[in-house]
Amino acid sequence: MSSFSYRNGITSKGVGVKFDNNSSKSSSSSFKSKVQSTGSGIRRSSTGSVGGGGGGGSTKDDSAVSGRVRVAVRLRPRNAEEMVADADFADCVELQPEVKRLKIRKNNWDSDTYEFDELLTEFASQKRVYEVVAKPVVESVLDGYNGTIMAYGQTGTGKTYTLGRLGEEDTAGRGIMVRALEDILAEISPETDAVSVSYFQLYMETIQDLFDPANDNISIMEDPRNGDVSLPGVNLVDIRDQNSFVELLRIGEAHRFAANTKLNTESSRSHAILMVHVKRSVKGKNSSLSSESTGKTLKAPIVRKSKLVIVDLAGSERVEKSGSEGHTFEEAKSINLSLSALGKCINALAENSAHVPVRDSKLTRLLRDSFGGTARTSLIITIGPSPRHRGETASTIMFGQRAMKVENMLKIKEEFDYKSLSRKLDVQLDKLIAEHERQQKAFQDEVERITLEAQKRVAEAERNYADALEKEKLKYQKDYADSIKKLEEQWAAKQEKHGHRKVKVGQADDGIDQKSNSELSTSGEVAEIKKTLQNETLLRKAAEAEVNNLRNQLIQWKKAEAARNAEISNLHKLVEDEAHQKATLEEEIAILRSQLLQISFEADQTRRNLDIGRNGELSGSLDSLIPQVKHQQPKDSGDGEKGSMVKLFEQVGLHKILSLLESEDADIRIHAVKVVANLAAEESNQEKIVEAGGLTSLLTLLRSSNDETIHRVAAGAIANLAMNEINQELIMSQGGISLLSLTAANAEDPQTLRMVAGAIANLCGNDKLQVKLRAEGGIRALLGMVRCRHPDVLAQVARGIANFAKCESRAISTQGTKAGKSLLIEDGTLPWIVQNANNEASPIRRHIELALCHLAQAEANAKDMINGGALWELVRISRDCSREDIRTLAYRTLKSSPSFQAELKRLRIDYELNRGVFPHRRRNHSTDCA
Ligand code: ADP
Ligand code: MG
Repeated sequence: MSSFSYRNGITSKGVGVKFDNNSSKSSSSSFKSKVQSTGSGIRRSSTGSVGGGGGGGSTKDDSAVSGRVRVAVRLRPRNAEEMVADADFADCVELQPEVKRLKIRKNNWDSDTYEFDELLTEFASQKRVYEVVAKPVVESVLDGYNGTIMAYGQTGTGKTYTLGRLGEEDTAGRGIMVRALEDILAEISPETDAVSVSYFQLYMETIQDLFDPANDNISIMEDPRNGDVSLPGVNLVDIRDQNSFVELLRIGEAHRFAANTKLNTESSRSHAILMVHVKRSVKGKNSSLSSESTGKTLKAPIVRKSKLVIVDLAGSERVEKSGSEGHTFEEAKSINLSLSALGKCINALAENSAHVPVRDSKLTRLLRDSFGGTARTSLIITIGPSPRHRGETASTIMFGQRAMKVENMLKIKEEFDYKSLSRKLDVQLDKLIAEHERQQKAFQDEVERITLEAQKRVAEAERNYADALEKEKLKYQKDYADSIKKLEEQWAAKQEKHGHRKVKVGQADDGIDQKSNSELSTSGEVAEIKKTLQNETLLRKAAEAEVNNLRNQLIQWKKAEAARNAEISNLHKLVEDEAHQKATLEEEIAILRSQLLQISFEADQTRRNLDIGRNGELSGSLDSLIPQVKHQQPKDSGDGEKGSMVKLFEQVGLHKILSLLESEDADIRIHAVKVVANLAAEESNQEKIVEAGGLTSLLTLLRSSNDETIHRVAAGAIANLAMNEINQELIMSQGGISLLSLTAANAEDPQTLRMVAGAIANLCGNDKLQVKLRAEGGIRALLGMVRCRHPDVLAQVARGIANFAKCESRAISTQGTKAGKSLLIEDGTLPWIVQNANNEASPIRRHIELALCHLAQAEANAKDMINGGALWELVRISRDCSREDIRTLAYRTLKSSPSFQAELKRLRIDYELNRGVFPHRRRNHSTDCA
């Protein structure tokens, strides 16, 4: 662990304590302390080393810890020349490492004593120097903080030795750069993390890439939002292993040497800067977008980006001497510039001064985060022992003392890795869709199979039943016919017998014998008939049983059929359930897609912001609103994302997306409105959205929702739709102006106001809607929004006013001189217009300049404009405006207005003069009238 302790700078001002050891004057006490600056006590205690040992792990994104710049002093051993030349003299300094004090001899009896964070004697090894000075900074960088290690001292005192030695012949000699990279590479994991380096030198305020010396005019970019500096022109090399890094350093060193030889300089006059960029993904800490419908959590990995800057400064003697050593004037000035600016900044920071002249030099701009910024900074002061350089050594030590008072606020910078989340989501989505399609297909196949089977079975049963019935019928018909035939035969036989008997009775009438004979034959017949009857009865019973049997069979068949029907209706129900599930799945997919879209949207925005930052351009260009939404897709991935938007449109369906606007779930509503806003940014979608009732839904959302995000996004979508004339009329007829005005009155977020102002500004450009727009409070709403001073909002307000004024001036050409006073002036916009006519943000200025020219077209406005000071703005525009067309327009307008001409004449300003007399674009022009 490090003995280079980090102390909290809670007693905000560092306390410089100097010990005067004046043995001749104070005999009673050899140690007389004299407090030099404000504050009290000796800097000694070591409370809570800030993150020095990896304490950064618990630090949250926004929290910052204070961390003072740590300063160590390293004394170089006497060199061969000094051994001889200074043989009879003592060293000019004496180090007392155990009490962390350094004494610098003033003369034989008097010396000054200073405290430092660490003192490294001439015997200190490179390893110890690394551990004491650099290691805590490297550990912080690995934890996600920015870090700086800088060496300051006279040429020849060991700055390059301490920082840049490669130690190829002897590993013990390796300097801080090599050791730092070794520690970083050992710590990071190659799968998730990345390290890259750039190496450049700053000489005479020119930055030269030491990996590519021909690249020697590199400019510094600053992110206007957070002040982060970057060097887009410099080579950034990915580092995977230690050997390739050492090789790179060697190349850089050789280039530095060669470049300086060519320039006829020495390396001691240039500042060499190694920048190590570390990107690490943070494990176990993720942003989560929960989606209730899926019950799953989508995670965007968090990455920490930090930067280690190692600075080998030019020799400090240059501050004083560069002018006197035969340098050219330019060179002397430039060599001085960066180092002396650094000294000034450190003085200002040490004294808590309100103004720190960071912008005075490239070096101080580059080191903005290192001193007074968010980085952990260690400074190593290198000194030599020779008494001949006492003055130089003393001033070097004073620099170190002042640097000890500089407080930094350490901060971790984390960001979400939306790109990789988006990739993950894409894969997940593809899987879900494929799985869903597969299930659906399998299910349909199964339903088809079961239906076929059932149909087959029913047909078979019906056939069997019909066959059996037919067979039975035939059998009974046959049996019946047989029985009838038998009965007929019996009947015929009986008849025959009767006929015989009658004959016999008629022929012989001898009493009892005959009678008994006939009785006998009759009883025989009866028995026979009885038998037949019994037979018949039996047959009938059998037939009845058969019929019962058949009936039972029929009932059974019917039952079977009913069961089959039940099965079929069950299957139908299953089909319905599946369809329902499918609908739910589709809804989930829609939500997932909208989330994905939202995430890629945000990722793009972040990327675009970064791009803007990199290019150093201020956002809020002239029509910032529309292009911003339109150009969401950066060139590289644009097609893919546009494609996915179209796909979403087709697959989910506009109506579905619009219906999600009314979802109960606030999250879904927000996602849906964002998706609609994205779609509305494409001109080709606008008509469809309006046709499907999207505009009405968006206006309803403005009315019904209390959520500012919804207001912002809905207003953005409306602003996009309001680019089209038909939609403008629709918006007006649906009470859009009062809704937008209400939203504007309640909004706090500048982005919401920007969207609302953008929407109204678009409406302002429609000639037919002017009167209605004004009557419903549109102009007053615009004016009300200037309470938010955000330049983007002001630019939209100015655009609206310019649009409105343009329409009014167009109307003059039809109405002629009858045209009345401008509604803009009636509604009191003139003072704001005049106030902002020379606004430093060019989009605002341009719109207002145009508005003024348009207003000046109507004579009815002239009096108000003269009284309100607008005339002077017009005069100024006609002379100074950098845009020729506006300048000419203003000039012509002034010339053609009798009222303005009269006023100028009254004030004896001869505006008829040739325009060439007025130099254009001259600031502080003498046109001010007051
Ligand atoms: P600077 O970069 O400050 O001009 P250098 O690092 O080039 O100084 O050092 C000048 C000379 O002193 C070099 O020859 C170097 O090897 C030697 N030197 C510097 N510091 C030490 C040290 N701590 N031990 C031994 N030699 C050193
Ligand atoms: Mg050097």
